[in-house]
Amino acid sequence: MSDCIFCKIIDGDIPSEKVYEDEKIYVFRDIAPKAPVHLLMIPKLHIASLAEVEDQHQELLGYMMRKVPQIAHEAGCEKGFRTIINTGDEGGQEVYHIHIHILGGGGRLPFA
Ligand code: 5GP
Ligand code: ZN
Repeated sequence: MSDCIFCKIIDGDIPSEKVYEDEKIYVFRDIAPKAPVHLLMIPKLHIASLAEVEDQHQELLGYMMRKVPQIAHEAGCEKGFRTIINTGDEGGQEVYHIHIHILGGGGRLPFA
């Protein structure tokens, strides 16, 4: 998607602070962190939101969930973390490329 900022981040056209990358996913630090650790995990495949997920994406989403605790732990969330997926206008979604917020590192966590 040429007009998607997260696709541009994956392509390196917009700079980001990368935490992890493999052939399926990209993880980077949120530009406006709401916790000491605030990561965004995105699939390299452009899916607009959780509401646009189809049967063919099930394996990819399962892969992402499997990776979350591993990456959270490596980023300093040894004592736990919060995951958030905002979906749609009333779900507070601002960027329409599906992403999992990973928040932790101590202190009070935001709900969204
Ligand atoms: P949403 O509200 O869609 O769930 O969350 C979008 C998140 O992306 C926000 O927390 C926002 O701070 C973050 N964000 C938006 N634009 C950029 C950007 O260009 N770079 C980075 N690293 N984060 C961004
Ligand atoms: Zn995208």
